[in-house]
Amino acid sequence: MTAIIAPPADLPLDSILPNEPLLLMGAGPVPVSQKVAMANSVVINHLGDTMSQVIERVRLMSQYVFQTRSKHILGVAGPGSAAMEMAITNLVWPGRKVLCIQNGFFSARLAEMAERNGGEVSVYDVPLGEGADPDQVEALLQTGGFDVLTIVQGETSCTVWNQQLASITRLARKYNVLSVVDAVCTLSTMPLEMDNWQVDVVITGGQKGLASIPGVSLIAFSDHVWPTIMNRTAPMPHWCLDARLARQFWEEKGYHYTAPVSGILALHEALRQVCLETLEIRFARHQLCSLALQSSVQAMGLSLFVDSPSRLNSVVGITLPHGVDAKTVLTTMSDLYKVEISGSFGLPIVRIGQMGEQSRAHNLFRTVHALGMSMKHAGANMDIPAAMAALERSLGANDTITA
Ligand SMILES: *Cc1c(COP(=O)(O)O)cnc(C)c1O
Repeated sequence: MTAIIAPPADLPLDSILPNEPLLLMGAGPVPVSQKVAMANSVVINHLGDTMSQVIERVRLMSQYVFQTRSKHILGVAGPGSAAMEMAITNLVWPGRKVLCIQNGFFSARLAEMAERNGGEVSVYDVPLGEGADPDQVEALLQTGGFDVLTIVQGETSCTVWNQQLASITRLARKYNVLSVVDAVCTLSTMPLEMDNWQVDVVITGGQKGLASIPGVSLIAFSDHVWPTIMNRTAPMPHWCLDARLARQFWEEKGYHYTAPVSGILALHEALRQVCLETLEIRFARHQLCSLALQSSVQAMGLSLFVDSPSRLNSVVGITLPHGVDAKTVLTTMSDLYKVEISGSFGLPIVRIGQMGEQSRAHNLFRTVHALGMSMKHAGANMDIPAAMAALERSLGANDTITA
């Protein structure tokens, strides 16, 4: 048989991959460790005994990372957004009232998902650069009748941290409202105590705080919310995202769809590294590195986009100096210094990630230097030695944590 459509000329990946991989210091995906990369290269039977042991361990380690005793932890084949959609579609159906706390792009996505599922959505639009105010949330909850509340822990888009998250999720429980927390960029970089804070659903992606690969995400449901999911009578439009079907694989070792086995093995390794490091030390490392980065960037002459106490540590937003074009800075950084950071969704900022392996001293020295030089190329007047000195002052004495 002669194929009607001819094959294209040979397309080796080498011809497009950079000779030296870029250091990924943007808002995700983040660099993965060698162990995670190795695990990701293995394919095993999705229903065999090895896989069921992997799943058991992923759930066990996740209980630690999410700080929950609930056994209702499921994986999702898909991006963080698929886990968001799974949370929403299992709790929101026509007529359900949803309060969406909106700080930016990702929290707005949760509101859009709730609307698409037929929810009656009310938005608490938090002023740009601020965290949500529990008093305002309580006033809204008192107006009554909400079934679900959605909130992000860290709003990656504008680098805002909802530092009052625990008060807000506890208020939700007090008013008998189910809470959904997006912890895609923050999980394992800063405290989140699912049980203690009375959170009903926590979602996370692989490629940010957890430092695994993109494409496999996790969702944890509390014991409190689980009966709502199991006893639902409203039609469920999604087949892949139906938690009652997903539990057949994640809890019963049965078949739902072919799980992304390699990605789950990678996640296993990423979770294992969190467990070995311990949450306490991991939080300390992230905080130390992010604060060092922040002081160094300021010493260079740049300003941070968000003021304390709502400034997110997991992704740092840096205001562009007047007249400096983000694209020029980012291109110089990647072309000349082989370091990649992120632009933004319409704001005059660039963003540097501090998630997982990004929070290491050697990566910070390289990134700050590359940022300073590239800002200079773009016309800004930067004090790079002062920035490097500030970094050294913050990190030098702590090399056992940040190495
Ligand atoms: C990145 C991110 C998402 C979306 O994750 P994807 O994997 O891109 O779908 C959602 N929420 C937050 C807070 C994020 O940082």
